[in-house]
Amino acid sequence: MRPFEYERATSPAGAVATVVADPEASFLAGGTNLVDRMKLGVSRPGRVVDVTHLPFDRIEETDAGGLRIGANVPNSDLAADRRVRERYPALSRALLAGASGQLRNLATTGGNFLQRTRCVYFQDVTTPCNKREPGSGCAAIGGYERYHAILGASEHCIATHPSDMAVAMAALDAELIVLGPAGERRVAAEGLHRLPGDEPQRDTVLEHGDLITAVVLPPLPIARNSTYLKVRDRASYAFALVSVAAALAVEDGRVADCRIALGGVAHKPWRARLAEEALRGAEPGEPAFAAAADAELAAAEPRPGNAFKVPMARGAIVAALRSLSEAGR
Ligand code: SF4
Repeated sequence: MRPFEYERATSPAGAVATVVADPEASFLAGGTNLVDRMKLGVSRPGRVVDVTHLPFDRIEETDAGGLRIGANVPNSDLAADRRVRERYPALSRALLAGASGQLRNLATTGGNFLQRTRCVYFQDVTTPCNKREPGSGCAAIGGYERYHAILGASEHCIATHPSDMAVAMAALDAELIVLGPAGERRVAAEGLHRLPGDEPQRDTVLEHGDLITAVVLPPLPIARNSTYLKVRDRASYAFALVSVAAALAVEDGRVADCRIALGGVAHKPWRARLAEEALRGAEPGEPAFAAAADAELAAAEPRPGNAFKVPMARGAIVAALRSLSEAGR
């Protein structure tokens, strides 16, 4: 591991200023992904700025009736929070579907968004990878593609984003509070992550030195009837092959509103707007759920090694909506 300087931040503005001033600096929160990458030689910061002692550790009601979640709230605390479980069950379930109990105790809300792909080639410094080393090529294309993208990929990168939590946040219209050198701004969770295009090294729209300080969940009555369904190679401690965060409201025998986001299929949590559009106003049931899934997945461009993900995503969308439809009766 490359030697690095360690600093403990004493103020949010000071943390931002320190990282902005040093192109080789990185924020450190729970460290559950960054430290792994440092050990592998994938990330080589010259300085880490520890933000875990900054006062971002509360879950609070907002005046609008939503929740403001401090960026340092551990994943396990967020998943267990009674308000989250009752008002945003998809988020609680997504968190509990991720990693292991020990990791969830340490991983933070802000850090969860910023974890990087687990593409095996990205994590192996002996192989070409445009995300790790721009211009070097993509060893995954034509290689081990099982966990890779079927939507929104490019010829430069076909990686998937690994977070479960971020998929639920995208479906639930969450917004991030980001502190940068010019002050605070809001970024929609759905718009945080980028598609790879010809710059796969950039995972998000954040700039160097931008610090996530909180996440705001809006008041969202539909979210009470929401869920998270994850399909993976083993029952726990595995990344999603495909996942679905969904919320459904049925009134007078019709779908009044819905939210759908997919994980494990793209370089970002994939908000399934086409599926949502197809579903609104439809009679809830298997034909409408399948038609909604097909509307979204028509754009899928699977690789030979992950073509199974298209029918898997279709089945997962239908199953998630079916469970919500039955629960809402
Ligand atoms: Fe690197 Fe992306 Fe290719 Fe994986 S898919 S090897 S992360 S460029």
